[in-house]
Amino acid sequence: MAKERTLSIIKPDGVKKGVIGACLAAFEAKGLKIVATKMLHLSRPQAEAFYAVHRERPFYKSLVEFMTTGPVVVSVLEGDDAIAKNREIMGATNPANAAEGTLRKLYASGIEENTVHGSDAPETAATEISFFFAASELQSYERVKK
Ligand code: GDP
Repeated sequence: MAKERTLSIIKPDGVKKGVIGACLAAFEAKGLKIVATKMLHLSRPQAEAFYAVHRERPFYKSLVEFMTTGPVVVSVLEGDDAIAKNREIMGATNPANAAEGTLRKLYASGIEENTVHGSDAPETAATEISFFFAASELQSYERVKK
């Protein structure tokens, strides 16, 4: 298993629903280490740039609108297979298809307001992490038993 880093976003609906702590706790409980985290309110240009890959999709405008409706919490998660593990914790894009116990099944309102984002591949993870964090903002520490 490869040690990876991935970008997580708790989207505006997750922040407003009061599940920041629940989401971060789920990452930690599944062995992912939070090595950076911060809250910010995305500007429209930032949201447009972050989701530029979806520019041609019919939901792009609405997605950008949604992502700027309130603050988000961006984090860098680190661990073995962190990218796939985070996506497993998140569940399917559409909460109607998400497995029981996943964050989207538990908290998402619909396919757009789906509470969390997670990088989908090593290249996108690297790009997305550097979108929000300087290398100097990523911390290093060892997890110990409680
Ligand atoms: P993800 O990797 O599971 O987040 O899914 P995608 O990369 O395909 O889509 C990015 C984000 O766009 C999703 O998390 C949703 O917030 C939104 N989205 C995806 N598909 C749809 C759709 O069909 N309609 C709308 N309104 N939003 C969508």
